Amino acid sequence: MPKDTLHREVVIVGSGPAGLTAAIYAARAGMNPLVIEGPQPGGQLTITTEVDNYPGFAEGIQGPELMDQFRKQAERFGTEFLTAWIDTVDLSERPFTLHTEEHEIKAETLIVASGASAKWLGIPGEEPAPKGLGGLGVSACATCDGFFFKGKKIIVVGGGDTAMEEATFLTRYASRVTVVHRRDHLRASKIMQDKAFKNEKIDFKWNSEVIEIIGEPETGVVGVRLRETETGEESIFDCEGVFIAIGHQPNTGMFKGVLDMDEVGYIKTSGRSMATNVPGVFACGDAQDSSYRQAITAAGTGCMAAIDAERFLDNLPVPAPTGEEITIEGERVSADHETITMPGGETISNHPEADAEGAQASGDWHKPSQPRRGAIE
Ligand SMILES: Cc1cc2nc3c(=O)[nH]c(=O)nc-3n(C[C@H](O)[C@H](O)[C@H](O)COP(=O)(O)OP(=O)(O)OC[C@H]3O[C@@H](n4cnc5c(N)ncnc54)[C@H](O)[C@@H]3O)c2cc1C
Repeated sequence: MPKDTLHREVVIVGSGPAGLTAAIYAARAGMNPLVIEGPQPGGQLTITTEVDNYPGFAEGIQGPELMDQFRKQAERFGTEFLTAWIDTVDLSERPFTLHTEEHEIKAETLIVASGASAKWLGIPGEEPAPKGLGGLGVSACATCDGFFFKGKKIIVVGGGDTAMEEATFLTRYASRVTVVHRRDHLRASKIMQDKAFKNEKIDFKWNSEVIEIIGEPETGVVGVRLRETETGEESIFDCEGVFIAIGHQPNTGMFKGVLDMDEVGYIKTSGRSMATNVPGVFACGDAQDSSYRQAITAAGTGCMAAIDAERFLDNLPVPAPTGEEITIEGERVSADHETITMPGGETISNHPEADAEGAQASGDWHKPSQPRRGAIE
């Protein structure tokens, strides 16, 4: 069956805090964005309970309710939503082409806000409440949830840098942090190991894996079932919180080989803008952030990506990862701002005033191209 074809100025992949903030800005700027919601409408915050650190909510807010507010705000300015997810993309020419099961979507600019997923153990008790104890003592984010564990005894699962960082951070709140690791040594870098070993609040359970998280919705987590990796012996370990710290996987597989990424799969952006290596494609939120991974930073970069897309469509130069600035017409302003290389390869000065005499003599100054925004009927 032929697919429905859609053509939009701004297409946003993902409906978490990054994608929906990009939508709010793009919609208010009159760019009629289309948001592809993906497999998790509302993003990661829909699987948590209390969000205490998103500014503007003095008493905190439930994750799903917060994301509902984001969505309504984006809708208020005319954002269009498509309940689908992207299988494949072709970014070799503009408009870019994105494929869902039922649609072929043409995008003049693309904002990738597909987030990252925390890796989970896949054990009983780990799923989000009400099915499991996720949000009721089980977490994958110390920055987000550490505050709720003041004076409590908790475990951190993992042996890499993430686990050491989370364990060290959690000693600010917890009375005791036990790192549970399935080997007899850590994978973490030496500096992170040393920090954890020196911390008097942290101890280690070696050669052990968590096979079940124990508790009830009323009590939250009360313990975990451990299994010795060498002997297979099982035991119960009492604790009030479980932090799974075995890493994150950015949801960027469909852009592999096309967008520049680090070794884990986080998309590389300019540093001075949210531009990727493909002019007209911007990335924001956890899909490009291995460092902060917070709702507020995702929202902030979503705003930046939308403003970058707007500038790009208005034929203004947008900073690229190379240090150059690139326009929608393919003009490249050099990193030192001295020259402009035209799409045909001709290089001209970027200082018309300084060279005014010569220019007047030849009468051939480059005239900026017209904005492209609003080109789609
Ligand atoms: C349990 C938990 C609790 C947390 N608590 C807090 C907290 O209290 N405070 C805080 O600041 N942060 C918290 N975080 C972190 C926060 O949720 C993330 O930093 C934030 O959601 C990242 O936003 P994002 O928009 O980049 O990505 P996400 O929220 O991950 O959204 C990604 C979006 O991309 C979509 N998508 C993925 N693949 C595709 C595809 N192929 N096609 C189309 N769409 C796709 C998904 O459906 C989803 O809508 C928590 C995270 C977790 C897991």
